[in-house]
Amino acid sequence: MTKKVALITGAGQGIGEGIARQLAKDGFEVALAGRHLDKVQRVADDINKDGGKAVAIQSDVQYKDQVFDSVKQTVDQFGQMDVFVNNAGIAHVAQICNTEEEDLNKLLDINVKGTFFGIQAAAQQFKKQKTPGKIINASSIAGHEGFELLGAYSATKFAIRGLTQAAAKELARDQITVNAYCPGIVLTPMWDQIDEEMGQVNHVAKGESLKEYLKGIALGRGEEPQDVANLVSFLASEKANYITGQAIMVDGGIKYV
Ligand code: NAD
Repeated sequence: MTKKVALITGAGQGIGEGIARQLAKDGFEVALAGRHLDKVQRVADDINKDGGKAVAIQSDVQYKDQVFDSVKQTVDQFGQMDVFVNNAGIAHVAQICNTEEEDLNKLLDINVKGTFFGIQAAAQQFKKQKTPGKIINASSIAGHEGFELLGAYSATKFAIRGLTQAAAKELARDQITVNAYCPGIVLTPMWDQIDEEMGQVNHVAKGESLKEYLKGIALGRGEEPQDVANLVSFLASEKANYITGQAIMVDGGIKYV
């Protein structure tokens, strides 16, 4: 592969960590952005030890200047950027009628505005370089169907699907593709949190909510970050050059769209 550089947000754990490790294996030089520098640094150090090229960047995606700065730091370090993965996101469990405005704002700021700023910052850099580029966003099964107790979260993941389509149309003339991945029930710290909060709302023990959701997966197991990373690896590769504006399911058979 000729030199390629990818920036992944929220790369300190879970799906983002899986994507960063996979893209490094694919030959990308990777910039790992995250709110907590120590977490992204740990993953970057591991990748470097394994012979890859990785750098850790502190960046909170809800702040536009920090997102643009993470792209600048990536280019300062590696000389270019070719792929931007808008992975960072948060979940919140509550009935719509009980959702606090503060929690709603946090979800919108991180999941929607963070992705919006990521698209802006990546597109600006690709246009400056006059090279094709790939933007890959984290949607969800909850971006295709609204889930009970995840109303505000679902709204943000639907929004990301809409943004993906609009950005794909606007940026195609610059040979920039924009796609999204839609995981199902991925066994990451996010689902530990969802399980615990659903348990509190429904008065069921820790682990029970997750168990119920896992029953609905046709392939009979929970999803691993690697399952998502495999799709992102494809979307980031030249094999996906003719795909844009899509939000692709990777859920082991939960939703059929
Ligand atoms: P996670 O909570 O395990 O990890 C998310 C990472 O994003 C963390 O490292 C966190 O520090 C970082 N992050 C959070 N807010 C940030 C901010 N403001 N700025 C920068 N980084 C921030 O979650 P995950 O399960 O790995 O999920 C990754 C993405 O995939 C999210 O967008 C999530 O909505 C989406 N997703 C997850 C699942 C799942 O089942 N886990 C399913 C569908 C979609």
